[in-house]
Amino acid sequence: MSQTSAHVAPDRRALDVAVRALTAPDLAPILDLVAWPDPDAGRDDSGRPRAVLVADHGGTARLDADHPDGLVIAGRHPLPSTDPMAFLPYADEVANPSPDHDDNAYPFPWSRLASFFTDPRSPDVAIVHTAKHWFPEQGGHLGEHGSLDVIQSRAPFLLSGAGVARRGIVDDHARLVDVMPTLAWLAGVEPEALGDLDGVVRSDLVGRGATYVVGLLWDGGHPGSLLDLAARGELPAVARLLERGCALSGGAVAEFPSLTLVNHTSMLTGVGPGRHGVVGNVYWDRAADRRVVPNDAATWHLTSELYRDGVTTLFEAVDRARPGVRTASVNEMTERGSWASTFALVRAALSSGEAVDPGQAESAESRDFLSAVRSLLPDPYASDLVSHERCRSDDDYAFYSGIDLLGLSTVIGLFSAADPADRPVVTWWSQYTTDAGHHAGGPRSPIGLDGLRDCDRRLGAFLDHLESIGVLDDAVFLVTADHGFETAEESVRGSWSPALAAALDPLGVPWRDEGPGFLYLGVAPDA
Ligand SMILES: [Zn+2]
Repeated sequence: MSQTSAHVAPDRRALDVAVRALTAPDLAPILDLVAWPDPDAGRDDSGRPRAVLVADHGGTARLDADHPDGLVIAGRHPLPSTDPMAFLPYADEVANPSPDHDDNAYPFPWSRLASFFTDPRSPDVAIVHTAKHWFPEQGGHLGEHGSLDVIQSRAPFLLSGAGVARRGIVDDHARLVDVMPTLAWLAGVEPEALGDLDGVVRSDLVGRGATYVVGLLWDGGHPGSLLDLAARGELPAVARLLERGCALSGGAVAEFPSLTLVNHTSMLTGVGPGRHGVVGNVYWDRAADRRVVPNDAATWHLTSELYRDGVTTLFEAVDRARPGVRTASVNEMTERGSWASTFALVRAALSSGEAVDPGQAESAESRDFLSAVRSLLPDPYASDLVSHERCRSDDDYAFYSGIDLLGLSTVIGLFSAADPADRPVVTWWSQYTTDAGHHAGGPRSPIGLDGLRDCDRRLGAFLDHLESIGVLDDAVFLVTADHGFETAEESVRGSWSPALAAALDPLGVPWRDEGPGFLYLGVAPDA
């Protein structure tokens, strides 16, 4: 299916008024910057804007293919740095947590913003929260992500095992869109067959030779903490992998926005949101005239219905190159084309009519559905691979601990087949307790670090199993995440909604702010 309906140019006066209101100096503590397609530059045939404007209270810059870091058109540059290696070594990040705008860095602003604004489901204006902004009344957590900034956009990138040189920590960075081409190539897909992707094969870091390719996503797994804890001996399974490989100090840069479903999709399709179409965890679909909430337990199993034409998942690419081999996508929303998939089981249960209908995201039906799912999960309190104290203090931590235990039993089951031909040549396993722990407490908080430790215990159990059946040395592993995290400050409160209302309502232009941060002009809010 295709959602490539035409872009609707926003009302120019409303756009100008909205940008002026959002860049008022009094909003600067909570509002980092705004970005929007340059209305004077138009779009190419793919819908990609030919230029993007970025502004904050101090200035405006215009970004395009010839000026990917932007040219100032008013005031001073709103992007003080675009260095993907900013706040390294990790001690620099620890010393400057949740930096102010003028001290922050925003890597790959042109390519990431241009991709984001290509899909017609993207907003007229993207509004980025400051790292310190705390907005619990609008769904924000103490630990947050989603920004264009470097720390919220930085995910781990660790390679280990067969074909990987033992280089330890390497001072370099990758991009999350590199994950799919790299793993597909390792699994035997030729680069020509991958076609023109946004990501590249990182053959400078790993060579072919593994029988089994294993991708491990720790959602929101903070890369600085991951490598720091591993070095301290507190993540023995990660350390075990690092001993047999390398990790990039700059990690992998997420696509914009640095949100969950955008980046799960980007890393497993090798293209940014403008080409796969999953532009946010929640957005307004103008063509369908409805609010869409893809990142919800009620809709995770339907993610592939949102894809634009031409998208190829890792699993589809491997299946085309090597028909008949098995691939597995465990607890992962990007799963189209996989031989075994957690969400295919969900769809099968729903189509049989025997499962609770999940209904719309956030509806009463979806809560019933979640209760049913939860009753089927392993009990986190019965497992010594879970910090029970954290489950008691944070319900999301308990829920995702159950999910992650289910994931562990699934991956062990996949590698329990007696006949080697029945084992998956590509396995992707996503864990989520890291995200729950970091939302609850932010980076370096006790609950955030326990999320990493618990995921490591489960990874250790998986590695032990692979060793016990004699295949550990035949596997290549990639450890990554979908985004980073920064900690809000409880004193930095407020909303830009009153300023938008004061600016736009007198014009009679309706507007919606989804997220908040996705501003749609000319679309009526809910009655
Ligand atoms: Zn996430």
